[in-house]
Amino acid sequence: MRPIQMVDTKTQYHKIKQQVDDAVLQVMESSAFINGKAVQDFAANLGSYLNIKHTIPCANGTDALQIAMMALGLQPGDEVITPSFTYIATTEVIALLRLTPVFVEVDAKTFCMDPAALEKAITSRTKAIVPVHLYGHAAPMEEIMRIAQKHKLYVIEDNAQAIGCDYIFSDGSKKKTGTIGHIGTTSFYPSKNLGAFGDGGAIFTRDDILADKMKMIANHGQSKRYYHDIVGCNSRLDSIQAAILDIKLKHLDEYIAARRRTADFYDKAFAGHKKLKRPSRAAYSHHVFHQYTLVIDGVDNPGAYRDGLNSFLAENKIPSMIYYPVPGHKQKMFEQFNVAELDMPVTDWLTERVISLPMHTELDDEQLRYITDKVTEYTG
Ligand SMILES: *Cc1c(COP(=O)(O)O)cnc(C)c1O
Repeated sequence: MRPIQMVDTKTQYHKIKQQVDDAVLQVMESSAFINGKAVQDFAANLGSYLNIKHTIPCANGTDALQIAMMALGLQPGDEVITPSFTYIATTEVIALLRLTPVFVEVDAKTFCMDPAALEKAITSRTKAIVPVHLYGHAAPMEEIMRIAQKHKLYVIEDNAQAIGCDYIFSDGSKKKTGTIGHIGTTSFYPSKNLGAFGDGGAIFTRDDILADKMKMIANHGQSKRYYHDIVGCNSRLDSIQAAILDIKLKHLDEYIAARRRTADFYDKAFAGHKKLKRPSRAAYSHHVFHQYTLVIDGVDNPGAYRDGLNSFLAENKIPSMIYYPVPGHKQKMFEQFNVAELDMPVTDWLTERVISLPMHTELDDEQLRYITDKVTEYTG
């Protein structure tokens, strides 16, 4: 059996090695390392894949969120509502821009923003909402957009974990996640569903004015070279990364299908299990399984039980991860906001119980059988 990894980008690379190597060499020959044709081509192709008017490449997914928030013209102290149960990048940029993060609960089944909690958290200072499509499952965007429209709030979708995910509206129409709110952001970090061979990110919008502003912000606030109208930053996607991403984009649907096959295998193996809750799939979301995350339930001390499972799997050469061991509202960096004591029973409950199994495009049935056998050997 091949060794089991949490993420296997190497085997995936080897399947497209010749194309990737040729594309990288071509960029090197062209010497157009920054904002070359490869970047423009990739942005155009990604934009048509997602069916979105403007795609702005940038240096990483954290910058994408930062540039999106800078473009909205928010003032220090303005409130931005976001889940506590997410990767730190989502919430960190809010504080970095001297805005106030307002943490809300997620749904215990989908791990995504709870619209009822969102509506309760809105105040006169609220300016924006940042839902996260966590683990590859869409947040309930139809309800979130309805609430946002009612209160005239901006919505920035953090789509770093769900690129390619279809959102299905109640009338049956579909849109890709990241193209529903005013702005969407994503990351091309190597382990993401569309991963580069280094850092990368992108921003999406239908709004011409926001698009122009975000392009300027990502490029030192200039629209004309050496004329800087607003304070921006320097956030670029390398041509080499764009050339690689453009090749991988053609395989994205196939990669998603492979992840879903793996999820189906896990789902079947853990069906009806008393101590393991499988990740649910809401009717509105086509889950793209960035992670396959189980919830430990029905045991006396879930934290210790989960640590035991994690160690048992490690002893058997199976990696597993806790995404994320500390929720946002309990992070030391947010002490200034006095949020550590917030009453967030769902977030705390999940934080103690989640465990993610190996999930990538290259897992075969032999590996999956071994993983599921070992998990159930421990859990009974
Ligand atoms: C990865 C990730 C980011 C940040 O992306 P980087 O490219 O690492 O900066 C933001 N939000 C979420 C939910 C992520 O998973």
